Amino acid sequence: MQIRGRLRYSREMAATRAIRLVTEVPGPRSAAVLERLQASVARPLSITFPIAAAEGRGATLTDVDGNVFLDFTGGVGCLNVGHGHPQVVAAAVEQLERFAHTDFTVVPYEVYAALAERLIALAPFSGPAKAAFFNSGAEAVENAVKFARAYTGRNGVIAFEGAFHGRTALALALTSKTHPYKAGLGPVAPEVYRVAFNDVDAIRRAFKATVAPEDVAAIVFEPVQGEGGFVPATQEFVAGVRALCDEHGIVMVCDEVQTGFARTGRFFAIEHFGVEPDLITVAKSIAGGLPLSGVLGKAVVMDAPADGGVGGTYVGNPVAQAAALAVLDAIEEEGLVQRANAVGERIRARMDEWRARWPQIREVRGLGAMLAIELESAALASAVADEAFRRGLLLLKAGIELNCIRVLVPLVIADVELAEALDVWDEALGAALSRA
Ligand code: PLP
Repeated sequence: MQIRGRLRYSREMAATRAIRLVTEVPGPRSAAVLERLQASVARPLSITFPIAAAEGRGATLTDVDGNVFLDFTGGVGCLNVGHGHPQVVAAAVEQLERFAHTDFTVVPYEVYAALAERLIALAPFSGPAKAAFFNSGAEAVENAVKFARAYTGRNGVIAFEGAFHGRTALALALTSKTHPYKAGLGPVAPEVYRVAFNDVDAIRRAFKATVAPEDVAAIVFEPVQGEGGFVPATQEFVAGVRALCDEHGIVMVCDEVQTGFARTGRFFAIEHFGVEPDLITVAKSIAGGLPLSGVLGKAVVMDAPADGGVGGTYVGNPVAQAAALAVLDAIEEEGLVQRANAVGERIRARMDEWRARWPQIREVRGLGAMLAIELESAALASAVADEAFRRGLLLLKAGIELNCIRVLVPLVIADVELAEALDVWDEALGAALSRA
């Protein structure tokens, strides 16, 4: 394990309402944990913030020294309903006390059916649809490709520049970033063809120059590229992909791992485009931080692989699924789809103001509460994130160049917390960009 950067900051730097810094950061307890981690954990699991988590509540995270941070990372988009949502915790505990595991394909359970039914009802499929659950986003993507291959009897997969679909062998082949994900870790899976994002003509060219459309099983895309820097797909692109899939019998796979569960101001981001995909992959915010993922899709595609062709010991864990049902209740009862739009509007207004003020901010972009600013360089993005951290705000970078700062804040953030976080971010920009 390594700690990215050496961040040591003093307590005078923050005295606001939600944020509370009571020691230097990292404090002595965090420092002790980090020292042990450094000695015992593999180096590539590098750490962004040199603090050890003790407790999460809503949009705040408290470290082992008692420092309270506002968390705009949401565990990289897993916490749309916030840390420690009481209903989610209660549902998980209740299920855990009854049973934690059977292996679904050995002895099944009802919570699996309940979650499948609810997600299918929420997904934009006009005909019969089915679901299958897995553990991680990468696993969902890999299985989506399996469903598509079994259904079409073809091998090829088209993925896009700037895409991120995970780090397991096939998902890594679909992911489009050399360092740190691919370099030295190959060979990656074959039959993946890379095409420029948001460019339908590039896919048409690839069908002539690179892979015949009748050899392509799936086109896999993110409605808003996440790790690639919060780049929304264009309407023309999504409609064009749908048309090409229809023309050539290709399965359209919409990866909603980061965009789903209200983040973009719709339950699924694909709803912004009025296009019906064939398969949707889900993970991250599905279960309030517990590991769970899934593929939702047209029944004919989902039923295509042979018996036992998809699965795994832990797939569709009942504790995570019980949590997921509570997440769906929370999204509905707390109006988090609408909240994402309100939170997004406030953040975007502030980001537009910053862009007008700071020429080093190249662009503000995103959808709903999935927003980012792009800076001129990775060094500037790091400087802003460091200044925010020293003031108690956790900000995460993104982008092929790592020059974007993205928002994956829990949607349950209170208005006063949001105002406080944006003021801190404003100060951090001032500190980092005025000296640049
Ligand atoms: N797909 C998308 C769009 C993602 O953003 C991610 C993770 O960031 C993944 C897939 C991989 O998910 P996991 O890290 O759970 O394997």
